[in-house]
Amino acid sequence: MPEVFREDDLLAYIRDTARALGPHVKTGPGDDLAVLDLQGRTMLVGVDQVVEGVHFVKGTDPELVGRKAVTRNISDVAAMAARPVACVAACTLPADVDPGYARRLVDGVRRTAIQFNAPLVGGDTGIHRGHGPLMLSVTILAEPISPVHPPVLRSGGKADDRLHVTGSLGGSLRPDGSGHHLDFEPRLDEAEALVSSLGAGLHAMMDLSDGLAQDAWRMAVASHVQIVIDVAALPCNAGCGWHEAVSDGEDYELLFAVAASTTVPKTLGRQRTKTTQIGLMRPMPNPDAPRVIGLLDDVELAMDRFGRFHEARSAR
Ligand SMILES: [Mg+2]
Repeated sequence: MPEVFREDDLLAYIRDTARALGPHVKTGPGDDLAVLDLQGRTMLVGVDQVVEGVHFVKGTDPELVGRKAVTRNISDVAAMAARPVACVAACTLPADVDPGYARRLVDGVRRTAIQFNAPLVGGDTGIHRGHGPLMLSVTILAEPISPVHPPVLRSGGKADDRLHVTGSLGGSLRPDGSGHHLDFEPRLDEAEALVSSLGAGLHAMMDLSDGLAQDAWRMAVASHVQIVIDVAALPCNAGCGWHEAVSDGEDYELLFAVAASTTVPKTLGRQRTKTTQIGLMRPMPNPDAPRVIGLLDDVELAMDRFGRFHEARSAR
C-alpha cells in the first residue's frame, strides 16, 4: 500500500531531524515560534502561509486574505506571550492575476502589519508559469514582552495543570469561505494580561489553528502529559456544538495550562475576552495511552485528532 501523507508526520520528521542547531537556538521546530538567543537578546521567528483553496476561497476580498496572512502569524506571537517586531512576506500569484487585486492584497498585508506593530520590511513576489493557486507566506519576527517574561512554550505543561481557552470555539470557516477566520483579532493583549497576572503560574500556551482536538494533542505530546477535555464545558460559538468546537479549527484562540492553584481571571485584556476552564493535564498512564481524553456524560473516551471518540477500553 502506498504511504499516506500526513502533515503531522512530516512535522515530526522535521522536528526529529533538527539536531545540532547551535547554542543560539533555544527552541527549534515544534512550537508556535522558534526562540533564538542573539548575544543575550531573545528573538522569536516563525512563518505561516495562506493558500487559495485551503485557507481562503477564490473570490475572497484580497485585503482580507492579506490580513489573515498576517494575523495568523500575530496569533503565533500571542501564543508565545511575545510582542511583534516586523514581518516579511513572499507571494506566488496566479498567472492571470488582476493587477488591482494584487495591489489590494499587498495593502491588506501592509495595513494589518502596521496595525499590530509588525511593519512589512521586505519580501518577494513570483508568478506561476501555469495554473497554480495564490500563495502568500508571512515571516514574523517578535521579542519577549519584557526581559522578565520569557516566551511561554507549549511544552511547559505539567500533570495536574488546569487547561483553559480564551473566547469560544467552532464554526470559524463557513462552507462559502466566509467567517471569523478572516477577521479574528489575535489574542496579543490577552496573552500579555495572562503573563502579567499569572507570571510563572502560566506553564504552557499555544494558539488554536487546527482544531482543539489536534492542537491539544500537540500540547500533550510536547508537555509529556495526557489531556482530559470536559466537552460539556467547551465554550461554543452560536450554531456550534462540542463536536465543531473540537474539530473545526481556525479559531485562533489561546489554549493555556496553568498550575492547579492558580486563579485565572474570568476576562482578559481591553476586549474583556472571557476565559473558560475546559480540562486538565495528568500523567500518561502508559506510553500507549491516548494523548487526549474527552469527558462526555461522565465517561472518559479516547479522542482522536479529528475530535472523534473511540472505545473507552483504552482510555486510561
Ligand atoms: Mg500556532
